[in-house]
Amino acid sequence: MAGQLLPSKAGAGDSSGSQRESSKLVELPVQCYTHSEMARRYLIDTMGCQMNERDSETAAGILEQLGYEATDDREQADFIALNTCAVRAKPQHKVFSKLGELRRIKEQRPHTIIAVLGCVAQIAAQEIAQRAPYVDIIMGPRNYSHLAGAITTAQARADGDPIIVTDTTEVIPEGPPAAPTIPISSYVNVTYGCNNFCAYCIVPYARGREQSRAPEQIISEIEQAVATGRQEVTLLGQNVNSYGEDLPKACDFADLLSQVNRVKGLRRIRFTTSHPKDLSARLITAMAELPRVCEHLHLPIQSGDDEVLERMGRGYTCEHYRRVVEAARQRMPQMSITTDVMAGFPGETEEQFEHTLCAFEQIRFDQAFMFKYSDRPGTRAAQMDNKVPEEIKQQRLEQLIACQNDIAHQINEELIGTTFEVLVEGRDPKSPEKVRGRTRTNKIVIFPGGSDLQGQTVEVKAQQAFLWGFLGEIAE
Ligand code: SF4
Repeated sequence: MAGQLLPSKAGAGDSSGSQRESSKLVELPVQCYTHSEMARRYLIDTMGCQMNERDSETAAGILEQLGYEATDDREQADFIALNTCAVRAKPQHKVFSKLGELRRIKEQRPHTIIAVLGCVAQIAAQEIAQRAPYVDIIMGPRNYSHLAGAITTAQARADGDPIIVTDTTEVIPEGPPAAPTIPISSYVNVTYGCNNFCAYCIVPYARGREQSRAPEQIISEIEQAVATGRQEVTLLGQNVNSYGEDLPKACDFADLLSQVNRVKGLRRIRFTTSHPKDLSARLITAMAELPRVCEHLHLPIQSGDDEVLERMGRGYTCEHYRRVVEAARQRMPQMSITTDVMAGFPGETEEQFEHTLCAFEQIRFDQAFMFKYSDRPGTRAAQMDNKVPEEIKQQRLEQLIACQNDIAHQINEELIGTTFEVLVEGRDPKSPEKVRGRTRTNKIVIFPGGSDLQGQTVEVKAQQAFLWGFLGEIAE
């Protein structure tokens, strides 16, 4: 196996995103272990989004190539990674409390390699190194091609400064093998990074600029996923709608969907996330006409007020957002629409917040991920005056949640009696005599059935509505 590149000393990374110089790198050999030596175990604790879940699968694949086996028991693990999320302040604080818990493990079992991966590793490498000097590896989300080399180096030494690799300018190579965790479904990256720099968002600093994968690489990964029993893929990107803008040969996201739709044996195609400013009429047509593309659109609105959207740097008005939703619903009346929204962006007035509530009442989302704004150091919003007091943010969030819960419940109540095509994911963890799966519109359905149904599509009649979906029974 080829050597890997690693930084020569601690402190190679910093927290200023893509503007930093690349780390000084040295070539190190990578050692693979044979099956008979497979005594080492790994555990990856994943926080945050689907992108992180996919990154953890990449890290797991690399570890398995090195001879590690997965374990759920951190007391048994020889390698423990926190794959971290920096999108809000709360999950970032959680990383440091989890690191505090890992100190004892490192003291009792010094050979255990502790790694911090992902977005917090990228933006707070020095803070991690200072506050948790027992961490062995700190690695940003664009740098997993160096993970094998970093582990080999960490194994070979008793202590020393952490190995830090945090280069957001790195072009992510094809190749690191993934160890998928979901039996019937696969996450497939179509783009990495983001070029949008929304005022509140840390992602472009943590994940670097947008990089589209070549369509043939994406198709080949999906074909392999289907060959190993996956029926569904979720195409991932921070903004899938700008897919292909950096590719040498013209191919936009609608073209990519057409190609994925032709993969034999694949039943369902999902994707996330869409950006309202870039969602084209071509994409709506592709969704409506390609039979494997599911009728679900996750379209973050963030605010229902134009002045707030302007200050967020989102690049659309609320009217534009409504027109996109209308166009999608016109072509696919059964489509479900979900969103992300933020309460208490700096300077948000009561009236502006009312506009968001009003947009929610009029658009009627099937589901929403609702958060309070929190400062992300280094972003434009963090520098803004007029921060909304914590208790007002909380109040507004609660109002939004109450409004959205009513709407979601009503939408699902109206669907009682409808028969849905459900792709069964497996046993319901709370009631072992039942199984759970998803409709094409991404609603969860739980119904009586055995584990032989896993991976099957079944027609299920909705009988009882919840916020998340339905209880039902197999339709006659
Ligand atoms: S589109 Fe905006 S909110 Fe989404 S990842 Fe990029 S910068 Fe962040």
